[in-house]
Amino acid sequence: MSGKKVTQTVWADATAIAQAAAILDQGGLVAVPTETVYGLAARADSAEAVAAIYAAKGRPDFNPLIVHVRDADHARQFSQWSDAADLVARHNWPGPLTIVLPLREGAPLARAVTAGLDTVALRCPAHPVMQQLLATVGFPLAAPSANVSGYISPTTAGHVSATLDGRIDMVLDGGPARSGVESTILALRTHGAWEELRPGPIDVDALHRHIYGVGLSDRADTETSSGTIEAPGQMASHYAPGKPVRLGATEVAPDEFYIGFHDLGGDCNLSRSGELGTAAARLYDCLHEAAASEKPRIAVAPIPENGIGRAINDRLRRAAA
Ligand code: AMP
Ligand code: MG
Repeated sequence: MSGKKVTQTVWADATAIAQAAAILDQGGLVAVPTETVYGLAARADSAEAVAAIYAAKGRPDFNPLIVHVRDADHARQFSQWSDAADLVARHNWPGPLTIVLPLREGAPLARAVTAGLDTVALRCPAHPVMQQLLATVGFPLAAPSANVSGYISPTTAGHVSATLDGRIDMVLDGGPARSGVESTILALRTHGAWEELRPGPIDVDALHRHIYGVGLSDRADTETSSGTIEAPGQMASHYAPGKPVRLGATEVAPDEFYIGFHDLGGDCNLSRSGELGTAAARLYDCLHEAAASEKPRIAVAPIPENGIGRAINDRLRRAAA
């Protein structure tokens, strides 16, 4: 295993992206901005590079990684692509949607990327820095969130350095991530079922309705979560700020850091106008602030359970677990 690294944080201009590509080519680790959160990228076709991601994050090796690709054609090289995948990708790529598909036999991916599963999670990200990087390197990039495993996800370069400084080679600083919560994960099963493995910025039900004119909840054959940890983003405790978190709080105790929403003010407010997209973008920022505060506890205002509010509440429940 590699010893302590010198982590350089550089503004993500063309020179820095070329430098990052060279580091990745050699099997190194680079934190990269995406439109969701910062990812910790390594080449997905190298067992050593992928092992280095798990080591740097302290990530359990049963938790597979998302493989980032240039486009749908690139995705075909690694998966058993289907008409459904094509439709879904056409509507959402590039963007914050991860599609889980059967792994293609002989796909040039390190085994550890899929944690031995016979499926692969693929995403084509929209962020220009990640896109430029993918175009430069040619190989696919495995990239989980750029934080120590189980901790709050990073939406700025500073958040990345806070837990990964000395463990990775480079942080490409592209400013704050815009959507702020991780991609929606949608599994497309061979028998045609759609399964949302993780709520996120893309509303799977609305997408299904858009494509087929009928919502997922209207369908009888939709699978529900199998109970096995297939997408450990579903693990009960995740995104943890290291102190107790109380949800649905409309009042606050003196020793609590209050994350407010709408007109429930707070020490940090997710969105004063009650806008859920803004709240999602600010969620991890507020959780980082709460974690750093002197107050020993955190209370969070109620967040409506609709649209991206489902993703916010999902992350908050795990932060509180
Ligand atoms: P993150 O660490 O935030 O990038 O989260 C990656 C998520 O993708 C985790 O919840 C993984 O379990 C999930 N994931 C990756 N590959 C697969 C797969 N083949 N099947 C299901 N979920 C996957
Ligand atoms: Mg993560």
